[in-house]
Amino acid sequence: MKPFYIFNTLSRSVEEFHPLNPPEVRMYSCGPTVYLPQHLGNLRAYLCWDFLRRALEFNGYKVRHVMNVTDVGHMTNDDEEAGEDKIEKTAREQGKSPLEIAKFYLAKFQRDCAALNLRLPTPPLLCRATDHIAAMHSLIARILEKGYAYVTPSGVYFDVEKYRGPDGIGRLSRQRLEEQDPGQRLEHSADKKSPHDFVLWVLDRSDHLLQWDSPWGRGYPGWHIECSAMSMEYLGETIDIHTGGIDNMPVHHEDEIAQSESATGKPFVRYFVHNAFLVGKEGAKISKSAGKFPLLDDLVAAGVNPMAFRLLCFGAKYRSELAFTLDAARAAEKQLYYLWGFAATANAEDRDSPWAHEYLERFTEALSDDLNTPEALAVVLELVRTAYRKSDHRIWSTLKLVDSVLGLRLEEQFRFLHESVPPADIQALIDARTEARKKKDFGQSDALRMELVARGWNVKDNRNGTSMYEPRWN
Ligand code: AMP
Ligand code: ZN
Repeated sequence: MKPFYIFNTLSRSVEEFHPLNPPEVRMYSCGPTVYLPQHLGNLRAYLCWDFLRRALEFNGYKVRHVMNVTDVGHMTNDDEEAGEDKIEKTAREQGKSPLEIAKFYLAKFQRDCAALNLRLPTPPLLCRATDHIAAMHSLIARILEKGYAYVTPSGVYFDVEKYRGPDGIGRLSRQRLEEQDPGQRLEHSADKKSPHDFVLWVLDRSDHLLQWDSPWGRGYPGWHIECSAMSMEYLGETIDIHTGGIDNMPVHHEDEIAQSESATGKPFVRYFVHNAFLVGKEGAKISKSAGKFPLLDDLVAAGVNPMAFRLLCFGAKYRSELAFTLDAARAAEKQLYYLWGFAATANAEDRDSPWAHEYLERFTEALSDDLNTPEALAVVLELVRTAYRKSDHRIWSTLKLVDSVLGLRLEEQFRFLHESVPPADIQALIDARTEARKKKDFGQSDALRMELVARGWNVKDNRNGTSMYEPRWN
């Protein structure tokens, strides 16, 4: 295995990566809160972690990846216990149950991820908070036993003053407790010893729809405890990599460290990797609380292939803000079709020309250099340009290898173009749509058509009622 370097927020520096038990890498990611569709900013985060996971696998590691799905306890006031549960708020607005809302938006999230060819963990490693209440109870009991939490009528709180880990709370954000904005947690319960204390288990909220019995009374979990409980359940007490958007760092991750390390006495995370935000025009914030946010569906409706968004994100460094515009997505789509177009000209029988090797080395080096995906993409585009210039297209094996990280489905395109057989999952969607049309269920057939288009496949119906399908780059 070649050295791999990554920026660790804990040390604020690029470090050589050493997992605890190579070649295994244990990686945990703070996934979606499923009360609204995921916006392109959220999807950028998942893409960054997908690039990281694939780059590690490309380097020979075996990644065990866990991602949580928050379906309880995330309040409308992100960093506080104040406000209303986000899922319950949507449920009330839509006249549905919280579980229906969570199920609906989880399925939508999974569909968007499939359209982006994300290698998402599958259940149980894609894990819902409401399925892990017992694990949260045991962890809270351990924290209480060690004296780092206290029980009050309104909830079980983590005692921040008592917690003195290596540097106490603030090690990750590099903010001493005294320097932290008390406003962030101003609306604290009178039961708290300090406004910085955070809730592990909420009690005495009869207005909350989802409630469970617990050793301390009926209630529901705070937001932070789920991530510690689920990462320990599937990955053990010390994990190699923890990812999240940079907004998760100062409070959510800080609190995860405090509660995990106070319970186990061991380091919780070896490398914290945070992605920067996707922003709108002139740096406008893309967040659900901002009210207006772009979705993958909006891109598809504008006629842009969703895989262009994947490529757009690959072309930006994960630690840099990325400005999203439709023009930028269209420019990325041109690059996508350029690469797909090349796949049409390749011949799988040919062995690669020796000159291609240098490009593979440069690609590998770029990824190992703190996941420098823009540089890696530049190398791939240069490789294809050189093949055209030399009129020597014998680079197919190299392209397949780089696509294991790029994830642009080059091989799928190649196979279809050479064998005219769509991949099995696409064929299943085509069959379901034909069936829906037969039954004159046009709502369903349109939904399936959108799904096919989102996955990069055009649908054309001819006069005989039969359908033809082809990749969209044509
Ligand atoms: P949420 O569903 O709001 O809990 O967010 C899911 C993930 O997306 C978290 O890891 C966030 O840090 C991340 N995230 C939220 N907004 C953005 C954005 N505009 N750009 C990049 N990542 C984001
Ligand atoms: Zn989390």
